[in-house]
Amino acid sequence: MKPMSNTDPYLVVGGGPVGLTAALEMSRRDLPVHIIDDDFAPSPESRALAIHAPTLDMLEASGVTERLLEAGHQVRNMVVHEKGRVILSIPLSDIPHRYNFILSLAQSQTEQILTDALAESGIQLNYGTRLKSLSCHSAGATATLVRDGKQQQFDARAIIGADGSRSLVRKQAGISFNGESEPQQFGLADITLSDWPWPFDTAVAELLDDGIVGFIPMGEGFGRLVSNREQALDASPHGARISKVGWTSTFRVSYRQVETYQRDCVYLAGDAAHIHSPAGGMGMNLGMADAATLARLLAEGNQDQYTKLRHAAGQAVLNQTRGNTRGMTRRGVLTNLMIRHLAPLALSIGPIRRRALKGLAGLDLPITWR
Ligand SMILES: Cc1cc2nc3c(=O)[nH]c(=O)nc-3n(C[C@H](O)[C@H](O)[C@H](O)COP(=O)(O)OP(=O)(O)OC[C@H]3O[C@@H](n4cnc5c(N)ncnc54)[C@H](O)[C@@H]3O)c2cc1C
Repeated sequence: MKPMSNTDPYLVVGGGPVGLTAALEMSRRDLPVHIIDDDFAPSPESRALAIHAPTLDMLEASGVTERLLEAGHQVRNMVVHEKGRVILSIPLSDIPHRYNFILSLAQSQTEQILTDALAESGIQLNYGTRLKSLSCHSAGATATLVRDGKQQQFDARAIIGADGSRSLVRKQAGISFNGESEPQQFGLADITLSDWPWPFDTAVAELLDDGIVGFIPMGEGFGRLVSNREQALDASPHGARISKVGWTSTFRVSYRQVETYQRDCVYLAGDAAHIHSPAGGMGMNLGMADAATLARLLAEGNQDQYTKLRHAAGQAVLNQTRGNTRGMTRRGVLTNLMIRHLAPLALSIGPIRRRALKGLAGLDLPITWR
């Protein structure tokens, strides 16, 4: 066994938004880091769109925020309507933060910006490199990596599993991923609209008899349609004329979280540690905050605090997104009363409105990365 020296890098497995944030924040804190991804190129899919105010705060130090702001589209309003009749109108510009909007940007672009910033700090994302197995020992960790069909042993101080919901790192560490999956399939489609009655700085949710269809703008004239109908386009929103359809997908919502974010030489972050409904666009933001928090704790030598700090944040998001998703998609007399009458009334009351806006912007979660 090779004795661990301080020069062994941390191995980040996964070059999605969470692994890239971990590597970038570790590098900014002068921690040696090596990052790999099984894929051969960045994913072109738009996937997570919403970037919240705390994430923009968090990425200022690395210079990433400026680039995200330049590339992204600011969503400044939210409207809930039923066949064109507005039930709720929420000005996101009332979010109590200097970033008083939700930044909409395709995940592929967010990843590209993070990858570029990482490369500028001297660290390349090693594509086409797969973690096959790992072991922890008193000197740190040894990973078996596969590249071009060849295996190599890699010694690391510790391994950060940012390898997504099917995480091999998590499985190798023997950490269970308990929770439940919803039976229902949801659909999404990236669309271009040639006719749309709403301004493109507004996220629009339309109540359907059997659920909901939402439109999140990504720029002037285009954005993401998402619905609890399996074919999102079947729920084509009221007043819309769709001129072009881009990426479409279906997904099933699960709610799962690990009981511990760390075991022996392994730390988990992002989807490897928690998955939940995309309602509110919390997932990527939550995972990036895991990564930045872990980087801080490792730099300070306080890594034993990691599970305590991040498990609570993850659990809060699981509970919040489960409640919101079920409320919107399994509507009965009570939820209809709530959405149509009680929510508009409640949101007209200052402190309740402020609290709701903080929730929408992810500002109600603890800041653990500084
Ligand atoms: C269809 C769809 C729509 C979504 N929409 C939203 C949304 O609107 N809002 C939102 O917040 N979230 C959304 N999400 C979720 C969001 O995409 C995830 O929360 C986010 O990608 C998690 O980032 P991550 O870095 O933890 O994992 P991932 O993005 O999954 O990245 C994991 C990386 O690890 C790599 N990897 C895996 N195994 C290995 C291995 N053994 N060796 C090396 N590399 C490995 C993979 O190639 C991958 O690049 C959506 C997801 C999907 C699938």
